[in-house]
Amino acid sequence: MMEKILVSACLLGRPVRYNGSAKHVAHPALEQWQREGRIVSICPELTAGFSVPRPPAEIAKGRSGEAVLSDGARVIEVTGADVTDLYIAGAHAALDLAREHDCRFALLIDGSPSCGSGFIYDGSFGGRTHVGAGVTAALLRDHGIEVFAETEIDTLSSRLSRNS
Ligand code: SF4
Repeated sequence: MMEKILVSACLLGRPVRYNGSAKHVAHPALEQWQREGRIVSICPELTAGFSVPRPPAEIAKGRSGEAVLSDGARVIEVTGADVTDLYIAGAHAALDLAREHDCRFALLIDGSPSCGSGFIYDGSFGGRTHVGAGVTAALLRDHGIEVFAETEIDTLSSRLSRNS
């Protein structure tokens, strides 16, 4: 059976980001995986109950998704609302879906407090980033799922061909 890949819904062109936009990525490998029926799509934030549009949120105080899961770090909207519990719920929904489809790989949009895997914003809403993962990417990694950013589709593609 062809290995399935968990993919951020906005990367596939669904307009589900906080500001109502998508972040569509066009790549031949991605198009091939779609034709092969290997894509499992999710927006963790929408699945957790957020709507579109929604206020932007960041992991506070320069912390990371790992710290949200295990060390009390918080996810805060620009309005000041604490939305940590919903971010954790979205991460668990993504993990459940990945397990249901036996996904060992995920392809997620970088920079998001949920889906980021290489960098995230620092909680100041000043456009400053740091190396780290969002809550969903961190939870998936904790459970042995390899997470790739949209800039790493070629790397993911070669990992998949080595594994098939
Ligand atoms: Fe895209 Fe992930 Fe943000 Fe949803 S939570 S809009 S899938 S980056």
